[in-house]
Amino acid sequence: MTASFTYQINPGRILFGPGTLEAVADEIGGLGAKRALILSTPFQRADAQKLAGRIGSLAAGMFSEAATHTPVAVTLKAMEAFEASGADCLVALGGGSTIGLGKAIAWRNDAPQIVVATTYAGSEVTPILGQTENGIKTTVRDPKVLPEVVIYDATLTIDLPVAMSVTSGLNAMAHAVEGVYARDRNPVSSLMAVEGVRALRDALRVIVKRPDDLPARTDALYGAWLCGSVLGTVGMSLHHKLCHTLGGSFDLPHAETHAIVLPHSAAYNAPAAAAELQPLADLFSGSIGGGLHDFARSLGAPLALKDLGLKESQLDLAADLAVKNPYWNPRPIERTAVRSLLQRAWEGARPE
Ligand code: NAD
Repeated sequence: MTASFTYQINPGRILFGPGTLEAVADEIGGLGAKRALILSTPFQRADAQKLAGRIGSLAAGMFSEAATHTPVAVTLKAMEAFEASGADCLVALGGGSTIGLGKAIAWRNDAPQIVVATTYAGSEVTPILGQTENGIKTTVRDPKVLPEVVIYDATLTIDLPVAMSVTSGLNAMAHAVEGVYARDRNPVSSLMAVEGVRALRDALRVIVKRPDDLPARTDALYGAWLCGSVLGTVGMSLHHKLCHTLGGSFDLPHAETHAIVLPHSAAYNAPAAAAELQPLADLFSGSIGGGLHDFARSLGAPLALKDLGLKESQLDLAADLAVKNPYWNPRPIERTAVRSLLQRAWEGARPE
């Protein structure tokens, strides 16, 4: 029998496929807006500039200082640029950092947002904003933060380096893995999770061999959209708590940390969520933890937290912080078991 559920569907307009970048001008009009501030990181400024040229007088200006972890100081500077340029909407071109900046502005002034997503992190379809001030990261969940329009044009992901493609794809998979056992899961979010992981699995296998394979890049964005949608719909558990702890308190890089921790967090929860995880385990030779580890290894992904600069002496503190104020998790959070999970992830060992 289908279990009872509540499903709060996030609104949003998705334009998917190579060439959809052409639609930005029409989409600005569709929002009833006239002038867009275009956001990017310094690294993607040239792409943002090209987009500005493409939309001509609809571009009010550019702000290319998006930074990781969405620092509030950068947001306030971007808001000044928004006011000064006379913009009435935002176009964010980039990954989670640039999208975070757009969300942070929209949270404050309710500006409509168009996102052109260029990584697989999934932030573009969530009503979640993480931002940092004085070294402290806080998260808000607010419908105002959810972008109105998302454009997935895989031609913009061809140059995403293979290593980043792999870690970003594993980051997306982590949303789906946690989604299948989420307390507030529903049949649709679970379907999206399994299909998202399958699409990313198949696409990443091709991308590591042929980074410019447009069909594979397109399939990876399809998987990223599905996995991101799961993140935007249901609650996350131990895996995300561990990654937030390692990123927030030890300054480890976001996507790489997700990539390394995922097989271990999945193995931790496997005994408590065997039925829910089974369709995903089936995608990885029947074993969710070991299978994900082997898959990550086959892609050349980083496998060990020690390679990200974490010291073995920091693992005790990491375990203490990770078990403090835990998110809901299918398996009870046991400090000893979490500490040995971290040890294995630090060493890069295959989960048992
Ligand atoms: P990112 O946005 O930080 O991008 C990393 C670097 O890659 C940047 O220099 C960027 O300009 C560059 N880049 C992006 N796309 C590229 C492309 N196609 N080609 C070449 N270079 C490209 O990386 P990310 O992993 O997408 O985002 C991480 C951030 O997003 C973290 O701060 C994380 O907390 C946040 N995030 C938020 C949510 C949410 O729902 N709020 C979800 C996932 C991630």
